[in-house]
Amino acid sequence: MKSLVLFSNDLRLNDNDAINSSIKGYDATTFLFIFDKILYTNTHGSANLWWLEKSLQDLKNRLLKKNITLQIIEGDFVKKTLEIVEKYDFKSVFINQNKHPEFIKKEDTLSFELKKRNTNFFTFNKTNLVHPSLILNKSGEPYKVYSPFYKNCKLLYSQKKVLKFPLVDITNFKINEVEINTIEIFSLDDNKWANKLDQYWKPGETEAIKKLEIFFKGSLSNYKEVRDLPGSTGTSRLSPYLRFGEITTNQIINYFNFHDNHDLSKHEEHFIKELYWREFAYYILFHFPYVTDKPFNKKYENFEWESDYSENLDKWKKGMTGIRIVDAAMNELYETGWMHNRTRMITASFLTKNLLIPWQEGEKWFRDTLLDADIANNVMGWQWVSGCGTDAAPYFRIFNPLLQEKKFDPENIYTKKWLKNFDLYSNGDEKDLLMNNNLIQPIVDLGASRNIALERFSKIK
Ligand SMILES: Cc1cc2nc3c(=O)[nH]c(=O)nc-3n(C[C@H](O)[C@H](O)[C@H](O)COP(=O)(O)OP(=O)(O)OC[C@H]3O[C@@H](n4cnc5c(N)ncnc54)[C@H](O)[C@@H]3O)c2cc1C
Repeated sequence: MKSLVLFSNDLRLNDNDAINSSIKGYDATTFLFIFDKILYTNTHGSANLWWLEKSLQDLKNRLLKKNITLQIIEGDFVKKTLEIVEKYDFKSVFINQNKHPEFIKKEDTLSFELKKRNTNFFTFNKTNLVHPSLILNKSGEPYKVYSPFYKNCKLLYSQKKVLKFPLVDITNFKINEVEINTIEIFSLDDNKWANKLDQYWKPGETEAIKKLEIFFKGSLSNYKEVRDLPGSTGTSRLSPYLRFGEITTNQIINYFNFHDNHDLSKHEEHFIKELYWREFAYYILFHFPYVTDKPFNKKYENFEWESDYSENLDKWKKGMTGIRIVDAAMNELYETGWMHNRTRMITASFLTKNLLIPWQEGEKWFRDTLLDADIANNVMGWQWVSGCGTDAAPYFRIFNPLLQEKKFDPENIYTKKWLKNFDLYSNGDEKDLLMNNNLIQPIVDLGASRNIALERFSKIK
């Protein structure tokens, strides 16, 4: 009896239920990644695809050391799987669930078709700590606010032992199919900017664990305070690794022994709450799938955005808004494929509440350029900032990027790092700009645009 393991965004050997279950009671196992070009290019941005390529290569190398070949083939996810199951007579297919709505659809179809063919289909969930369908309020409805969700999700989650890659010898059954080289598929010939990402990131499971250890020994002891300073390395930078399942939240919680009779320090508690924000994002996406392109709070569908905004959008993307911290952050993103959470909020607020450009435009740019771009977190982040999401910042809370800079980057460590022309910006005082014509001018008046936003928001209160 043969089993088939299909990978997607679970690119790890440890804490991998699909792998561990696929070898119990089977004579041989096949390890397969199907590159469904349409599916992947529709659901992954350019930066995501760069990461996927490197991460798959890393997984392939790690499996090879165990005498197992990760076979990578191209084709339609469902059709190709069914074809292979029939051709090689697989009795069972194992996957870790991918919670992207497009993948859920594919997995549902696959499940239906495999059932018709009497093939077992086993799916596992380590993307989330608790399956979203299990967390409901007393009326049986999904929570719409983070705090009660957090309380309930934490109660329901029982710490699961981290699975180790099986120690037994695995008989690897290699199918006879045309394999493709990751580099041929994902390399971004048209996106030369991706070449520099190598300087900043090393995708893969080994590096994910290293990052966790460094964070644990370093910034965690100060997390609550330093996590907000974009000029520091106060956060874990685990987001792309979590995005591709190179590490699970279950592993992180086990590593800290967070739930088992462990008295959390305020820093640890804050960190775990952030992990649960990620849970909440998946939870909302599961129960309210329309949020991918529409506001959670439907009354904001009619918000009056600017209609002629292409020039300003372009300047925002290129870090040419004339607002120092916004431009620094957009440069950080373009240079490294990552942006600090504080400046994600500042740049998103500037786009939606000063330039009055629809949040969907910003979400789209982040989706293409962030290595950790993740439909659930990205959409939630954008809707939270623009004021139309669950638990969103109230519409009248509009970040002033100048004050934000003073508070969170007072010594300009961050802005100096990411702006070559730092000296050409005003020192944060709007009056400066009026006095000195040589300074870079903001593309919008912060005060006036804020008032317009408030007026438009108040119309749909
Ligand atoms: C406009 C906007 C867009 C965003 N887009 C994404 C995205 O596409 N992908 C993504 O992973 N995160 C996104 N975030 C959330 C957050 O900015 C990143 O998760 C965080 O900056 C990642 O850095 P870190 O791993 O060092 O975080 P840490 O502070 O070390 O936190 C650890 C983990 O907790 C989770 N987490 C932390 N903060 C948040 C948060 N506010 N919301 C949800 N989960 C969180 C992440 O998985 C993160 O890796 C977005 C936030 C905003 C405001």
